[in-house]
Amino acid sequence: MPPASVTFLGGVREIGGNKVLVEDGPDRILFDFGPAFSAELEQFYVNFLQPRSTSPVKDLLEFDLLPRVPGLYSRAALAESDLPYEAPRVHAVFLSHAHVDHAGYLHLIDPEIPVYLGRGTRTLLDAMAVSTHRNFGEHDFRTFEDRRPIRVGNLEVVPFPVDHSIPFAYGYLVRTSAGTLVYTGDFRHHGPRAADTHAFLSAAAEARPIGLITEGTRAGPDPRRNLSEAGVRAGVDRLLVDLDRPAFACTYPRDVDRLRTLYAAARAADRTLVVPYRAAHLLAALAPELGDDVPVPGRTEGIAVYGRRKKVYYKWEQPFLEEAVPAAEIREHGRRYLLAIDLGHFPELIDLRPPSGSPFVHSMSEPFSEDDVDDRVLHRWLDHFGLAFHQMHASGHASGPELLEIVRSVAPRTVFPIHTEHPEFFRSGDRPVTLPERGRTVALEAPTSRRR
Ligand SMILES: [Zn+2]
Repeated sequence: MPPASVTFLGGVREIGGNKVLVEDGPDRILFDFGPAFSAELEQFYVNFLQPRSTSPVKDLLEFDLLPRVPGLYSRAALAESDLPYEAPRVHAVFLSHAHVDHAGYLHLIDPEIPVYLGRGTRTLLDAMAVSTHRNFGEHDFRTFEDRRPIRVGNLEVVPFPVDHSIPFAYGYLVRTSAGTLVYTGDFRHHGPRAADTHAFLSAAAEARPIGLITEGTRAGPDPRRNLSEAGVRAGVDRLLVDLDRPAFACTYPRDVDRLRTLYAAARAADRTLVVPYRAAHLLAALAPELGDDVPVPGRTEGIAVYGRRKKVYYKWEQPFLEEAVPAAEIREHGRRYLLAIDLGHFPELIDLRPPSGSPFVHSMSEPFSEDDVDDRVLHRWLDHFGLAFHQMHASGHASGPELLEIVRSVAPRTVFPIHTEHPEFFRSGDRPVTLPERGRTVALEAPTSRRR
């Protein structure tokens, strides 16, 4: 029987792009499959310059931006490429969460291969597919229950919910014939679901894992200011006290925790939170999964949709149009509103004409963001309208010192740092580190009885 092994096909010395293949005898499963936020990818594909939809795998393989894995890609995605189609040789894909750097290449995968994911994650992917036209492909989606083991051949995978900057994020324990592997996905423990992360990490420690495959987004030098979610709330509260004008905030479109934080702060200050159509659609779609305390425009007091005018409205935008708040209302009664504005919608400021000195809360990470507007461009707009910039963000990721503390408490036989530009940072911890190399397979050995 070939030994159990792990191969890092992506996420090596880069943020995002996780593609982790775990093999045990004949059984092969993959964790996540997305593009990295890497300089390498951006050397060839950036903004609107993207692979052709008729030959995506060919166009990515040209620059070695995808792994050459036989029996993984769909026949359609492989069109025109020199990698021949083969029936599936990967038996399952497990998705940690719905961020694009983990799920964004799902549409390339053979639809015959089952994709396991949380029920809420599935809802999120569906909502994103509708409101962003992002294509995740047709798949045999299999939603799982938290902490209920899933068997794939000899492998057993246990999904644990974790706290991250998007709801329905998971880490996994993977039981192989050589012992248990831990795959963290992306996580933090300073958000509203910190208890989930703690429960996952204690289960991980109890399993006495042979390997901890951990994200390390914030490993190494991290000059970015970071707050907890409660810290963001306190900061926004302070800004809104006795404020006689409108306030603005920009967030990641799928950071539901942040939208809830802004909503709570707006309510406490007797304001209405006004959100873009896309956020409204997302909140409405997720409400059944997330429960009663999710504010939904049209249903919940104190939240409304901003009436951005367009020539043509999508079908999913139409339910929000009737009660949408027009620019003129916010211009006249700015004191009543906290407006969550997308960076791409800044021309609205030309109609909103906020009084000089109105606060603008940048509630996203500092140097890079998912929908990147150049920092200089952002500040030019703010200066033009005299808006006061405030940076207030709670990262989706654990800090460097927290990561080392987690490694110490989980005490794996070895650490595999991925989703980081600074994997060697983990060498300052107290466990052995195996630095992943892209495409190299690492055999997993069962621990000897002398361990511990
Ligand atoms: Zn993420």
